[in-house]
Amino acid sequence: MSKPNLFEVAQWQLDECAKILKLDPNVNAILRVPMRELHVSLPVRMDDGTIRVFRGFRVQYNDAKGPTKGGIRFHPNETIDTVRALAAWMTWKCALLDLPLGGAKGGVICNPKEMSQAELEGLSRAYIQSVWQFIGPDKDIPAPDVYTNPQVMAWMMDEYSKITGKNQFGVITGKPLSLGGSAGRDDATARGGWYTIREAAKECSIDLKKATVAVQGYGNAGYYAAYLAKSLFGCKIVAVSDSKGGIFCRQGLDPEAVREHKTKTGSVINFPNTKTISNGDLLELEVDILIPAGLENVITEKNASNIKAKIDAELANGPTTPKADDILYKNGVHVIPDLLCNAGGVAVSYFEMVQNFYMHYWDEKEVHHRLDKKITVAYHSVLDTSKKYNINMRQAAYVIAVERVVEAMKLRGWV
Ligand code: GLU
Repeated sequence: MSKPNLFEVAQWQLDECAKILKLDPNVNAILRVPMRELHVSLPVRMDDGTIRVFRGFRVQYNDAKGPTKGGIRFHPNETIDTVRALAAWMTWKCALLDLPLGGAKGGVICNPKEMSQAELEGLSRAYIQSVWQFIGPDKDIPAPDVYTNPQVMAWMMDEYSKITGKNQFGVITGKPLSLGGSAGRDDATARGGWYTIREAAKECSIDLKKATVAVQGYGNAGYYAAYLAKSLFGCKIVAVSDSKGGIFCRQGLDPEAVREHKTKTGSVINFPNTKTISNGDLLELEVDILIPAGLENVITEKNASNIKAKIDAELANGPTTPKADDILYKNGVHVIPDLLCNAGGVAVSYFEMVQNFYMHYWDEKEVHHRLDKKITVAYHSVLDTSKKYNINMRQAAYVIAVERVVEAMKLRGWV
């Protein structure tokens, strides 16, 4: 079965929300499409002396509420429609968290696993050389996403600063700490997710100290999700996975030891005293909390009815197809939708922007406290809205976000 086109999914979700809100079709017509998109060709000198031309995108979806914000992905399967969907979701995510920001996303079709550090640096700089006129601290602020990291952000910030002739730390977030990064940005996506899971556990009467957890994906979000599950709440991590496969251990895994193993061997699989399972098996395990933290479209109509978790916390963007959503809702799985569950990343990115503007930096405790406050308020407004309208948590998140963006558009006189 072919996977659904992610942008069509994003448009369908918006249309459903428009029906609930009885939104003026003229307004919906504006919201259904990106405001602006750039397609760029990026020539990079490779280590063997040849030049390779990579394709890149930046989609600025809607800036009614402020400068656009969103990460840059380096991925071999990147498509413009994926980037469009992710840019739309950033718009709703920022609005849901009540950040003074719009939404954007960037992507480059490349396989960073096969590239040297020098080639990655060349690509990062080439990307900024192509888009610099369209981004900026008060226009559009990129950040890390799948297969990009603080080092990539540092190169990009440096390139932008060189081109514009002044240090502009605020052009990008997710930077290393010594270059204007924020304390607490590294684990922010997972930590924000866990604050929402903490609230969801109360709603579902789950005792987190006795809860079992499975995490799909072991990149930044997945690793920290496993690590914080144990260190913050004392949960037992029984399974984790990465693109090569998964591991299961009923007695519980040590997330840090698994990460060391992955750094050494390239994968979590073959970690001592574990059973090898597939990514598909992991999703269907009998656990209290399932955390998809990898890529999109993994919970589909095919496996949704086999999901046994009580809470499905979407740290990945777009892990669930619309048909699967209906099945999970009918089966009573408490889904914490991506717009809410993974919004901790952009919330702390916003804190990073504020600190860059002020040239004054907060400690980790301050960041954690502010993140907790923001995301916990958002969780409860989504939960209340879902109960009030009798709709699922994703639709509730959309209702809140779209109402806020539409209000901004009206006040600005756009509609
Ligand atoms: N890439 C992250 C996301 O999907 C963070 C974006 C940001 O920090 O701007 O939310």
